[in-house]
Amino acid sequence: MQEEYAVQEYAVQEYSGKATMEKITSLAKRRGFVFQSSEIYGGQSGAWDYGPLGIELKNRIAAAWWKEMTRLHDNIVGLDSAILMHPRTWEASGHVENFTDPLVDCKKCKSRFRSDMIPEENLAAKKCPDCGGELTDIRKFNLMFKTNIGAAEDTASVIYLRPETAQGIYVNYKNIIQSNRMKIPFGIAQVGKAFRNEIVTKNFIFRTCEFEQLEMQYFVKPGTDEEWFNEWRKKRWAYYEKLGVKMDHLRWHQHGSDELAHYAKDAYDIQYLFPMGWRELEGVHNRTDYDLNRHTEYSGKDMQYIDQDNNNDRYIPYIIETSAGLTRNVLMILCDAYDEEQVAEKGNDDDFRTVLRFHPDLAPITVAILPLMKKDGLAELAQDIRTELKEDYSTDYDQAGAIGRRYRRQDEAGTPFCVTVDYQSKEDGTVTLRFRDSMEQVRIPRAELASRLHQEIKAYKRVK
Ligand code: ATP
Repeated sequence: MQEEYAVQEYAVQEYSGKATMEKITSLAKRRGFVFQSSEIYGGQSGAWDYGPLGIELKNRIAAAWWKEMTRLHDNIVGLDSAILMHPRTWEASGHVENFTDPLVDCKKCKSRFRSDMIPEENLAAKKCPDCGGELTDIRKFNLMFKTNIGAAEDTASVIYLRPETAQGIYVNYKNIIQSNRMKIPFGIAQVGKAFRNEIVTKNFIFRTCEFEQLEMQYFVKPGTDEEWFNEWRKKRWAYYEKLGVKMDHLRWHQHGSDELAHYAKDAYDIQYLFPMGWRELEGVHNRTDYDLNRHTEYSGKDMQYIDQDNNNDRYIPYIIETSAGLTRNVLMILCDAYDEEQVAEKGNDDDFRTVLRFHPDLAPITVAILPLMKKDGLAELAQDIRTELKEDYSTDYDQAGAIGRRYRRQDEAGTPFCVTVDYQSKEDGTVTLRFRDSMEQVRIPRAELASRLHQEIKAYKRVK
């Protein structure tokens, strides 16, 4: 292990956080982050719907990644390619032939397993880990969703839902070079849906059939690929640190030769310690010139890069890929932010709080405006403050119930700041700004609110 990655040795080994998958799933539903798809029909496994707070959180995670990749890198541009692609794409990419999981079924209870995910003894004895019944032989199962395009349902009309966003980038790489005058090294970033007919979908939104990816493909000169691979590992590690993620809950996992995808020369996963254990969050892959060579072969088009600064040298670039799950990042951020603590000893039910310690850049609601009373013009004043803050911040307004309860509701939604408007506000134009993490309150002039929020967000450092 190289020195710059020694940081991972601090990784904790066992999960000791307050989150459990049950708590996260139930909070997500209760507060409108994530709902089961088609719940009124009993639910559709492998698919989830993002509610009002969930879509805000997901959008912000995507925006943070987009900013990091495109705005902060002069040589990375964006793309939004179609989900439906020419079926030859998937022959060229190797997905038709290789994108399979090994599958076994139980003849008795009909459960289906990925054979690489059940204990070896069960596999050797062909014994179902659930009921002890007999297991079938292992067979290969292609994870791509197949459908038909056009009126005729014959083999000529077969089309796939993309299992990764990357191929949309590869088939456009020449368009982007030409339209945007890109020079190697350069990258193309894309956020979008991907679909995989996963055999086992469990752990809430961790592994689903419909999900979203955050993928960036970086095109480099062959021979410089290892250097760029290391560089992107460093950058992706630093990115999570910047988001305020608990760094002792992250570690690297290098793919052994038995794990490497058919296209990869080297691959490292960033794993996160979820309540159910260490699991992949993102992969950094050296995909070599495999994809562009294959597209050259299958399309008949020349995919070589012409290096105009170097005597028009021609070569097929190598590709370094950073590939993260957006929806998996939503789960990670929910688990990472989740905390429970005792905040008083009055014997009341609001002595305890559940709090989501989101980075303010990711929090679905940045600031909640709470009038102490509805009457005497306090509600109007609070609404007026909200209107003023709306242009720059995502706001909420709550006038229902005791103030302590309202703070708890905002804590549970992960709102980093609350502004309380009381009688003094009417008299001297000051308001109370309350901080989610420390629960401290400061009185400041209303006129300073917007700039103070701006400063607090910029200076935010996670403490717990
Ligand atoms: P796994 O081994 O967990 O099936 P993978 O190695 O096939 O995943 P990649 O093909 O490298 O995953 O995909 C890149 C990223 O996309 C993963 O790190 C993960 O965050 C996300 N991802 C992949 N499959 C799913 C899925 N079924 N549901 C949600 N996110 C996924």
